[in-house]
Amino acid sequence: MKINIIGGGPAGMYFAILMKKADAGHDITVYERNGPDDTFGWGVVFSGKTLANLRAADEESHAEITRNFAAWDNVDVVHRQDKISIHGNSFSGIARLQLLKILQRRCEELGIELLFRSEALDLNSLRANSDLLVAADGVNSTARKQYAGKLGPSLDLRPNRYVWYGTNKLFHGLTLTFRENEAGVFAAHSYKFNRTTSTFIIECDPQTWEAAGFASMNDEETRHYLEKVFAIDLAEEPLLSNNSKWINFLLVKNANWFFENVVLLGDALHTAHFSIGSGTKLALEDAIALFDCLKMQPSVRAALEEFEASRKPVIEEYQAAAQDSMRWFENARDYMHLSPIELAYSLMARSGRVKREDLARRDPAFVARYEAERNADAGIAGVQPANGTRSH
Ligand SMILES: Cc1cc2nc3c(=O)[nH]c(=O)nc-3n(C[C@H](O)[C@H](O)[C@H](O)COP(=O)(O)OP(=O)(O)OC[C@H]3O[C@@H](n4cnc5c(N)ncnc54)[C@H](O)[C@@H]3O)c2cc1C
Repeated sequence: MKINIIGGGPAGMYFAILMKKADAGHDITVYERNGPDDTFGWGVVFSGKTLANLRAADEESHAEITRNFAAWDNVDVVHRQDKISIHGNSFSGIARLQLLKILQRRCEELGIELLFRSEALDLNSLRANSDLLVAADGVNSTARKQYAGKLGPSLDLRPNRYVWYGTNKLFHGLTLTFRENEAGVFAAHSYKFNRTTSTFIIECDPQTWEAAGFASMNDEETRHYLEKVFAIDLAEEPLLSNNSKWINFLLVKNANWFFENVVLLGDALHTAHFSIGSGTKLALEDAIALFDCLKMQPSVRAALEEFEASRKPVIEEYQAAAQDSMRWFENARDYMHLSPIELAYSLMARSGRVKREDLARRDPAFVARYEAERNADAGIAGVQPANGTRSH
């Protein structure tokens, strides 16, 4: 089969690897507009379940990926002076650049043609010259725009702004930190992804962003402002920029996942808010799902139909959970009156999918502490006068 792939990110390269590994006769070309060492972002996160999927799909790259991993089992919620740790959550992190390097090496080893600094411009001829054209060209996908009439994308630019930094302060666990100042509320999502570096994503609502005056600050001023907001948490370590800019999260969905011999994959196809797990995980699992369908079905057409039919419900479920999580962060200021343990509980349950029983199984001490505090509060409330309003 002749396969053209637009985009040498995790989705495009992983799909190429699986196809070529299954049949060395496939002629696969990946077009990537950037060079092999250009990238953005810091670390990417995987759950234990994703790792099991990666091992089953390609042991070689799984071994390389896990060799370079930082693993942890705790989510830490920092609010006011308290840090609440919730255990029993299996996650690991790796630098995005390192992941891309591992996948690039694996592509080269298998004989996949990786064309760097090659912008795919003439999509119609790439389509005409292949049995399958995979558009794994990221969140701002050109293919999705060009074929919008066939694919029916829906794009929802969310109000919160976020910026993706790194730092040498190590956060041993997925750490969610909330800090308030005169402008409003800032939330940081941080986790270490190697021995020296953590990802540090900062998010705030539009009111906070306006009040802080970021519109008139340059990158350096922005970074210094945010270093002050999170001064206690960063413990003197600076925020590291990789051309880091404020962006609004773009929620991507598509009515149709393919037409004729063109299929979308990864961020081009769908996005899920970063607070619930990384887009990288979904991108790699998309590649596995599409590969499985091509293996099982007698034709490209049947495989693409099966891919959409079987994977769409999985993604919709994931996006629904991510949407609840995203809304929680969009409304973070409404939760700031909660005590640290209440805030931590609300955060852990924010997707609506994690029930008390799940949390009690993962970390009984956390649930016991939360319930003890609530019962104590209820006791205090019980002796208040009938017209007594409780302050938080
Ligand atoms: C600014 C930013 C920072 C991020 N940082 C992180 C992070 O630190 N951790 C994390 O987990 N996730 C991060 N993400 C999200 C994560 O990168 C994606 O969810 C994930 O990479 C999706 O994989 P993908 O292969 O679908 O797309 P991408 O990784 O975006 O790959 C798409 C590739 O297609 C290429 N491309 C696009 N158009 C063309 C074209 N016409 N011709 C040729 N090539 C083309 C792009 O250069 C890119 O390499 C970040 C996203 C953004 C926008």
